[in-house]
Amino acid sequence: MEKKDIVSMNFEELSSEFKEMGLPKFRATQVYDWLHKKCVASFEEMTNISKDLIAKLNDNFVIFTCAIEKKLVSRYDNTVKYLYSLPDGEYLECVVMDYKYGHTICVSTQVGCKMGCAFCASGIGGFKRQLAPSEILGQIYAAQRDLGLRISRIVLMGMGEPLDNFDNVMRFLELVSDEKGLNIGMRHISLSTSGIVPRIYDLLDRDLQLTLSVSLHAPNDEIRSKIMPVNKSWNVDELLRACKTYGDKTSRRISFEYAMMKGVNDTPECARELGVKLKGILCHINLIPANEVPEKGHERSSDNDIQNFKKILERAGHTVTIRRTLGSDINASCGQLRREKMKEDIE
Ligand code: SAH
Ligand code: SF4
Repeated sequence: MEKKDIVSMNFEELSSEFKEMGLPKFRATQVYDWLHKKCVASFEEMTNISKDLIAKLNDNFVIFTCAIEKKLVSRYDNTVKYLYSLPDGEYLECVVMDYKYGHTICVSTQVGCKMGCAFCASGIGGFKRQLAPSEILGQIYAAQRDLGLRISRIVLMGMGEPLDNFDNVMRFLELVSDEKGLNIGMRHISLSTSGIVPRIYDLLDRDLQLTLSVSLHAPNDEIRSKIMPVNKSWNVDELLRACKTYGDKTSRRISFEYAMMKGVNDTPECARELGVKLKGILCHINLIPANEVPEKGHERSSDNDIQNFKKILERAGHTVTIRRTLGSDINASCGQLRREKMKEDIE
């Protein structure tokens, strides 16, 4: 009999499993607390549980944990990057950033990615598999255990397209925001998507208070279809219509991500076109100096072009920030870490 993935279960599911095993309800409360509040990596660590019950739990369930394969600490700030190995030999990466307002973690939602964006390292080896809810949570739990601190914000901006792993990501959100677990509020969670439009509407139906980030990267179909194949299925207008609906219904500001690539999407004309396209959408624009990926061949835009782009958008009435590259969050979170096998300074 295959052992069940206990960390992916919500409290109701765990309770009914325990009921079937003839265990009293308080056992479910205890075990759920150990798993999701104290983030233990084994049943043996559950000190208020008898040896017999631990053996029984081990027979029936498995606690998924991320094994730390490598850990890097940035020289410039306190950013920590982990390379985790999974039981089936796959690798995952995640990054913990130390911001003034608390620790933020960037997690992966898939091994590899199907979307094939021209500038991104995540999809280079193709799509491998979906991550279970426990494997998304496990990235946070392993980091918390290792660092001995509490993560207070989450961004789903690591490897993979979260809306292409919809059900598992929804379960992950349910578990991580559960008051019986880590209890991280939806307002402290951001989900980034390349623009799978029907799933944006599905997300809207869930009525969650999370921040939606949309990887736009181009003001029109001509450029976007060249760098993001997803645009051939749902074009810029369809995507922006979904974003507008999302903003109108939730009153939450959408964050548009725009990776600046020399000669690709960084001209003043692009900025003007973008400024017009985003009019009327409650949003914030995040310009990202693109990370250069050797296999992909694009170059990062010059500082001057990025500043100029920002000014044009601001003149059009938008709020714009330029993302810092120091913590190399994107560098780490988009598959480059896994590919480059950590060239940086190892702790
Ligand atoms: N699949 C989702 C989330 C993961 S990617 C998405 O695409 O939104 C997280 C962010 O990093 C996205 O905005 C993505 O477009 C961006 N990104 C990927 N490769 C990049 C690169 N080489 N330079 C800068 N940003 C990059
Ligand atoms: Fe996938 Fe996002 Fe990378 Fe595109 S940018 S290949 S959607 S991870």
